[in-house]
Amino acid sequence: MRILILMSDIGGGHRSCTLALQQEFAHWFPGVHEVFSVDVFKQFAPWPLNYVPPAYKYIANRLPGFWQWVFSNYGSLITEEQMATWLAGYLEPYFELLFDRMRPDLLVTVNPLLHPTVFRHLRATGRNLPVVSVVSDLVTPHGSWFHSELDLCCVPTVQAAVAARRYRVSERNVRVYGLPVRRQFVDVEVRERRAWKQLLDMEEQLPLVLIIGGGEGFGTIAALVEQLVASRRRKAMPDCQVAVICGRNKALARRLSQSFGTEQVRVLGFVTDMHAWMAASDCAVTKAGPGTIMEAAAMGLPVILSGFVPGQEAENPAFVIRHGMGTYAPSPASQVSVLTEWLSDERKLGRFSDAARATACARAGQSIVEEVDRLFG
Ligand code: UDP
Repeated sequence: MRILILMSDIGGGHRSCTLALQQEFAHWFPGVHEVFSVDVFKQFAPWPLNYVPPAYKYIANRLPGFWQWVFSNYGSLITEEQMATWLAGYLEPYFELLFDRMRPDLLVTVNPLLHPTVFRHLRATGRNLPVVSVVSDLVTPHGSWFHSELDLCCVPTVQAAVAARRYRVSERNVRVYGLPVRRQFVDVEVRERRAWKQLLDMEEQLPLVLIIGGGEGFGTIAALVEQLVASRRRKAMPDCQVAVICGRNKALARRLSQSFGTEQVRVLGFVTDMHAWMAASDCAVTKAGPGTIMEAAAMGLPVILSGFVPGQEAENPAFVIRHGMGTYAPSPASQVSVLTEWLSDERKLGRFSDAARATACARAGQSIVEEVDRLFG
């Protein structure tokens, strides 16, 4: 089968989910399926839709109140079907080009927002393709992830399955398999944490705190690093080293490198070996992105959630606390205080780490591709 994954780099999670699925198809069905992906908004959508990814980045980070409003009202003031009808004439040629070029036998969507337009186009052009959605928001996915015509809808949690039913996805087409993470996190090389630190050129004996802000480097990372460094200097917390992954936030990486480059603070841009950094770290401070949370779970990494994007991530702190894999500390001062407590108590960190492992769904990706192959292959 030629499988086309429709995704977009809105945050980092959709691409990670895409890569995870591509790796799983290649691993379990080598040479059987051809799997392609396109960034629909960046590569195929016309103006102004091609500005959706940068607009999201700006609004979700800088205008959270407005993003909350968009999340609550998108699709209810004007229905998505209505929008798809209005946009049809404008978007049809682009979708025609996409389908002509990729000639898919099956579609997988790993982003919300596309379904009414996709189904409208399939109907209008008489294409009879199965459509599968792999939902990567953990607990409170937006309604635009769902559509009554989906042939299969894979969700990460029971709460997301309830949302799927609420948005008219037939119960027999919903599967709760967990969130797929890339194979580096599933078949991780067995090494001691010290050995991972050595591999990454970090000090072997010192605890390592990892700071992450999703694919876009969201959150109050600079303030946290500043307070952490100050606290360490005053010896108000156990000695530790810090790695900050700024993702695509180049301005943040520049600023941190200039201010803290020599303070046992390693500043990184977008990394492709997140699994190695997680394996080397004793704990992480991160925004409540579902991809990062489930990768940390797979690696047994305790997390301090520093914030969340309103709407789709609002319940993720409760998810992490309920599973015992970490805590929520919304201010840099409270994050430093939790770090001080955790780094002084190895047994506590060990308990969070065990709980994280128990939260992981290591076989989510495998289950999804096996089900796709069984139903449509
Ligand atoms: N990520 C990465 N390299 C980076 C920063 C982030 O590979 O430098 C990945 C991270 O491992 C995760 C994804 O980007 O898979 C972020 O997804 P998440 O759902 O946590 O947050 P989002 O960025 O989508 O809001």
